[in-house]
Amino acid sequence: VSAALSEQFPADPLMGEEGSSELRAPAWADLLAKVTSHVHLVRREQPGSDKILDWIERGQQDIDPNRRYWVLDPVDGTKGFLRKEQYAIALALVERGQILLGVLACPNLPAALGGAASAAPACGQLYAAIRGGGAERLDLGSGDAIVARAPMHVAPTTDPALARWCERVESSDKNHDVTSQVVEKVGIVSAPDRLDSQAKYAVVARGEAALYLRHSLNKEYREKVWDHAAGVVVTEEAGGRVTDVYGKPLDFSQGRTLAANHGIVATNGHLHERVLAAVRDVLARLEAGR
Ligand code: AMP
Ligand code: MG
Repeated sequence: VSAALSEQFPADPLMGEEGSSELRAPAWADLLAKVTSHVHLVRREQPGSDKILDWIERGQQDIDPNRRYWVLDPVDGTKGFLRKEQYAIALALVERGQILLGVLACPNLPAALGGAASAAPACGQLYAAIRGGGAERLDLGSGDAIVARAPMHVAPTTDPALARWCERVESSDKNHDVTSQVVEKVGIVSAPDRLDSQAKYAVVARGEAALYLRHSLNKEYREKVWDHAAGVVVTEEAGGRVTDVYGKPLDFSQGRTLAANHGIVATNGHLHERVLAAVRDVLARLEAGR
């Protein structure tokens, strides 16, 4: 992705989650050789390892977040990837803090969560959005051919009792306890779908879950730009709403983190204010030690 962007948009900087320092260490020479041979499968010019390391390292450059930049999470949800569950490749374009477009590749996301239909898909889907242009789901076939595409909309439900919701797998029990209190207060009765990666935004955008709630009891934790930018624009363009847990818009002009925000509330829009009110109640009770 980095190589393609540097060719198509040589003036645009890239913010990437990963750097190349580990891969440059002599101890990892075998892995670098494997990476190189994989890249040779997709790059006609058969780049040398040094060039590949430089492409990866491009994502570590200093970026003026008030200008235009691309942001890439090459394997979002690494823990899910290792468990052979959900992960995503997430790419977005940001200009002056506004996300202009985003695309999530979800190679292992079933067409519907739960039940027998939850079997792994052959090739997965792309979830893509251009600001102002709506959101689209593109089903992939072999060789990455696009075999179907359709506009995508969030769930129309206004009744919490009918709403599904999703959250992280990797959160602590205490964090999960907070989210379950919030959801109970809202009147949602379903058990959460727990998924890794920005596949959670895809699940909201395609109308399956009406809420993705993310909250960390660790007040020092700052969300990372690459964990959200693509998913946010996909959800918003599908008709949803995304803020932090206090209802503040996400600010993508703060550098590599969302330094001005805490947590995430992504909804179908209809349930948003109710969720924010419930978060306020639950957090106030927690602060008061009740
Ligand atoms: P998820 O798959 O939704 O659990 O998100 C994975 C991402 O969560 C990782 O790429 C990290 O950037 C991020 N992360 C790591 N630790 C925390 C934390 N304590 N709270 C919130 N997010 C975290
Ligand atoms: Mg990530």
